Amino acid sequence: MEDVLDKILSRVQKVSRTGEARPILLFDIDDTLLSTTQRHLRILREFASRSEILSRHLQEAWTLIQLEPVHLRYAIADTAQAAGVSDTGLLHHLKDFWSDRFFKNDYLMDDVAIPGAARYCGDVVERGGGLIYLTGRDTTMRKGTLYALRENGFPLPSDDGIELILKPRFDMPDLEFKSDVLKSISPRRSIVAGFENEPAGANLFQENFPQADIVWLNTKHSGRPVELAAAIHRIDDFRRSRPPLVSSGSTLPANS
Ligand SMILES: [Mg+2]
Repeated sequence: MEDVLDKILSRVQKVSRTGEARPILLFDIDDTLLSTTQRHLRILREFASRSEILSRHLQEAWTLIQLEPVHLRYAIADTAQAAGVSDTGLLHHLKDFWSDRFFKNDYLMDDVAIPGAARYCGDVVERGGGLIYLTGRDTTMRKGTLYALRENGFPLPSDDGIELILKPRFDMPDLEFKSDVLKSISPRRSIVAGFENEPAGANLFQENFPQADIVWLNTKHSGRPVELAAAIHRIDDFRRSRPPLVSSGSTLPANS
């Protein structure tokens, strides 16, 4: 059976060859293309290393410093609680400490690609496709986002069919923002696929572009009780078991 990722690439190539409309793929960023895991762990380590935490909560600090990717929950306080931290004041402090850092450019620069993601985006562009990075990050996060995309080998926004669309305001709900953007996409544009880690986001893609292949990333999500629409594909990452469908002399990202 053809892998869904290969199937989408074939479709990109087919649509591209018709020369009518450039095939476009939509990608969420956080925990779809870039993992937020290292960002969470860095913040936990920085919190636990602070002198006031070490002096008053040594045991909890030691617990938090030792956490690994497998221990992470979506919310930082849930991660700490699951690790055995129960002091309410400490949990509140951690939450505030996390909020002050998680959305800052300096921390976004720690993000690493979901396996195979940069290579896949490169393969799409190589076959004539365009990319829309559609993210719940806001415009103040552009610098760190571009840095992480570049460092991880993703095709960068350009005048030639690669767009980065950020939220105009931090406090705007992600789903509302994405819904507005999707509705504004001209019906003349050929959306062939969309990728999202939030089930509600994937369903939104599916509703707006029922003819496209929508793919849900089984990485990490907010845990809201949303059922994924039946037509949506599911993948763990972007690694493909088989070699690319076509080869060319184009340069591909080295670290994907
Ligand atoms: Mg996401």
